[in-house]
Amino acid sequence: MTQSLERSIATTPTFSALKCRECGATYDLGPKHVCEDVCFGPLEVAYDYDAIRQRVSRETIQAGPLSIWRYKDFLPVTGENPIDVGTGMTPLVRANRLARQLGLKELYIKNDAVNMPTLSFKDRVVSVALTRARELGFTTVSCASTGNLANSTAAIAAHAGLDCCVFIPADLEAGKILGTLIYNPTVMAVQGNYDQVNRLCSEVANTQGWGFVNINLRPYYSEGSKTLGYEVAEQLGWRLPDHIVAPLASGSLFTKIYKGFQEFVKVGLVDDKPVRFSGAQAEGCSPISQAFKAGRDFVTPVKPNTIAKSIAIGNPADGIYALDIARKTNGNIEDVTDAEIIAGMKLLAETEGIFTETAGGTTIAVLKKLVEAGKINPDESTVVYITGNGLKTQEAIQGYIGEPFTIEPKLDSFERALERSRTLGRLEWQPVSV
Ligand SMILES: *Cc1c(COP(=O)(O)O)cnc(C)c1O
Ligand SMILES: [Zn+2]
Repeated sequence: MTQSLERSIATTPTFSALKCRECGATYDLGPKHVCEDVCFGPLEVAYDYDAIRQRVSRETIQAGPLSIWRYKDFLPVTGENPIDVGTGMTPLVRANRLARQLGLKELYIKNDAVNMPTLSFKDRVVSVALTRARELGFTTVSCASTGNLANSTAAIAAHAGLDCCVFIPADLEAGKILGTLIYNPTVMAVQGNYDQVNRLCSEVANTQGWGFVNINLRPYYSEGSKTLGYEVAEQLGWRLPDHIVAPLASGSLFTKIYKGFQEFVKVGLVDDKPVRFSGAQAEGCSPISQAFKAGRDFVTPVKPNTIAKSIAIGNPADGIYALDIARKTNGNIEDVTDAEIIAGMKLLAETEGIFTETAGGTTIAVLKKLVEAGKINPDESTVVYITGNGLKTQEAIQGYIGEPFTIEPKLDSFERALERSRTLGRLEWQPVSV
């Protein structure tokens, strides 16, 4: 094979169309997200898996960058220079202390609380979406966000030199708003909930010609979440776990972890095996969990009311697909109260040294609930996805954590305080009431 032919094979895209998830109609690779000619179903990127299998091996992946771009052949971008801000390859932590507390044998935390650059899993989807936006010629990017997506879109747009305008519900946590404004995008704080923000953005997308990462670029954006599946498989030594637990907002990341595992099996990177998929929601916004428990195969929208704002989507776009995956893999979908969410944040911090936001507290609390109900077996290898960082949702735990001992800069003052700390003892973990 000549060098130039080899080169052209190595750079030919492994994806060639957008395909409707409902009716299979195909579309060109533009900024489209619904099957507008036939059934209005959601569009998804279609790949040539034979081409991927020929091009990719464990060795080629391991020789790639320490970011999501080591899996570039599985992602919908064409150019050789994706926007690489170090997103991905976050730690997979063996969580022995949490496992012991819950009575599990093999538990891991996939820690996207330390993802780069903005400390949530959203950096994965945005790195892919903005790379694709640039390829499609967009100069302004935008999003409808529950908080983390705005942080991520604003940061990565700044790095890539793209103009940025983000839309958020006006009542977000201070850390999420500040963590967007620092990058100096235009921020629209909408007086309404996320579902209203999203509806407004669909109208704006039709009039402004902007690339909305989670609207007209959604098929590309959502593929970024597959890397949560690839990384776990690679970090477990090229094998799949028995059970995963992940949070559900729109349901997208849950379905894409599943797709990521399936693709690794399809191209021969890991052996096939059953993996159970369990999903976590906050009781105050639990449309998918309610449908799961009622045995329904449709999702009835709800009005969100929970401290877990980052996963408060009342009308989840991928809800039915998440339901289907939980059911066919013999998993579960469960929800927990705001008090249990706070307790979950504290439990993860105290047992593993990981400070997660309310979404992570939700996932840990659901993990605990499923173990206690016998829905996770003690000897299943289980991976829990922690998707965001606790420093961004400080309001949630205000009043539920300890206080420092204020002392004079003198030894006797310290010794008195130490004595007092010993009589107070360390607080036992238990759900706090709010
Ligand atoms: C957006 C978000 C999710 C859920 O994402 P979906 O793909 O919409 O289900 C989970 N956790 C955090 C921290 C998020 O910001
Ligand atoms: Zn269709």
